Amino acid sequence: FYRVDIMSNLLQIDGSYGEGGGQILRTSLTMSMLTGTPIQISNIRAKRSKPGLKAQHLACIHAAQTISNAEISGAKPNSQQIIFRPNSIKAGDYHFRIGTAGSTTLLMQTVAPALMTLNKKSTMIFEGGTHTQWAPTYDFIAQAYLPMLRRMGVDIEVNIERYGFYPQGGGQWSATIKPSSPIQALKVLERGELLSQKAVITCCKIPEHVPKREILTLLPHTQWSAKDFKRQWVNGLAGGNVISLRLFYENCSEVIDTLGRKGLASHIVANNAAKLLRQYLKTDAPIGEYLADQLLLPMAIAKGGVFRTTTPSQHTFSNRKIIEVFTGQYFKFEKVSNNMWEISL
Ligand code: ATP
Repeated sequence: FYRVDIMSNLLQIDGSYGEGGGQILRTSLTMSMLTGTPIQISNIRAKRSKPGLKAQHLACIHAAQTISNAEISGAKPNSQQIIFRPNSIKAGDYHFRIGTAGSTTLLMQTVAPALMTLNKKSTMIFEGGTHTQWAPTYDFIAQAYLPMLRRMGVDIEVNIERYGFYPQGGGQWSATIKPSSPIQALKVLERGELLSQKAVITCCKIPEHVPKREILTLLPHTQWSAKDFKRQWVNGLAGGNVISLRLFYENCSEVIDTLGRKGLASHIVANNAAKLLRQYLKTDAPIGEYLADQLLLPMAIAKGGVFRTTTPSQHTFSNRKIIEVFTGQYFKFEKVSNNMWEISL
């Protein structure tokens, strides 16, 4: 799925590899900046029903271009091939707008790993989707992803101004990356004690009975006490509803976010959330399926680390391969018991 073209000096990556989605593009952009490797990606999002670059992916390319002063070609809507030649990464005050409900959190995860290797502060303002399907929510970033990065010595603070739901998006949040000493290897082998748990039901422009019903449905499933449940009303362009189940352990945290949507009954949304919670609690693996694929990049920057997780997703396997192509360092994926894997570098 990759080759080096000697004539053009480009690392050529086949975007149809693995699940053939947007992650291959985003991880390649980040690794290209981190290693100073010019790349050509073809067959971008070839396995998605609408292949090629959408607003969210174009925003990632342009953001990466901005912070690394890259020369690019092919970055047009629906394009399936781009060339990206990075220069040096620069700290600064950046403002990235997607213009749709495209995921700003995936955009953040594309550029932040590059900026966090610098010894100068950067600030980023994001506009677009903050709580969308098939992407980490802002809360997942704030309460699950960043705490893991903090354990690696990376200091990123975030703050949300406005929520961005599908279809209008229009959310806004900011991230401040403070310079840190060299990024340290992560080690998370077990969850440790459960310190606290919380269910936060976020509502924007939806009737009051929705969160009430969601809490009533969740209560018997979770056996949490009423004080662990909180409702919050937020502002945003589009209406939205998120059930966010948060577990804080000594060594890690997990955020299980389930989005409500028009036409989907609130008790079904709550039952879906309860099912995901049961799945996480069924194993003792500290790092959840989604966080696992997202931690490989920071681990590659630290040039080491180890964590335990549930059975890795296709995303995790693909991310691993893409990162390895750039670094020449190989992750070890080892099944340690029925539902538990150990990933190390
Ligand atoms: P495409 O645009 O091609 O559909 P994509 O750009 O949406 O792809 P994916 O390739 O599907 O991106 O990658 C989605 C990323 O979002 C992965 O890193 C995955 O871990 C993360 N993710 C998806 N769902 C959740 C969730 N519920 N909680 C946390 N993270 C999630």
